Amino acid sequence: MAGPGNYLADVTEGITRVEDLPPPKIIRRSRNYKRRRCPCCGRSAYRLRSVRRTLHDLGDSLVARPRDLVVTYSQHRCPDCNCYFNADMEDLALPKNHYTHRVVATAVRLVVEDGLPYRSASWHLWRDHRVFVPWATIQNWVEATGEKAAANITGEYLDQALSPGYRFGETGRFTPPGWSLCFAE
Ligand SMILES: [Zn+2]
Repeated sequence: MAGPGNYLADVTEGITRVEDLPPPKIIRRSRNYKRRRCPCCGRSAYRLRSVRRTLHDLGDSLVARPRDLVVTYSQHRCPDCNCYFNADMEDLALPKNHYTHRVVATAVRLVVEDGLPYRSASWHLWRDHRVFVPWATIQNWVEATGEKAAANITGEYLDQALSPGYRFGETGRFTPPGWSLCFAE
């Protein structure tokens, strides 16, 4: 019988097949408009097409499942200046990023405030928030926050990150102890 203080491994430890992982909960969002103001010249531009983008969000911790936002958004072409642009969705995520602002902010805090090595931060995000972020991606985010944040991360953490128990795929992707999966981005 498990009591307070008993160690329980994460249920996904030891899983080797992607299909055995808990499936993501899909949340649909729309940024799909018939017309949008052209960011280049300010004229109104009709929708050219609608497309979709998947953003990984912090997971649902109650049911321990990942959470993906599937955003349908419009792409527009300005008839006046021929500018191509997407409907704005920077409230959700930065352009070309596969993760929501919440995931980025949580990841950066784990490293900058809590001093976790990138690999540990990656594992923490999966274990406690059910979002898989390759450690190299976290490193990019932290470095993008500037020198001040990067200065808080000392060699000590890097040594810890390289300690036994952590394994790395050929592409530098993180696989936590007891977990043999390697995710494609
Ligand atoms: Zn225009």
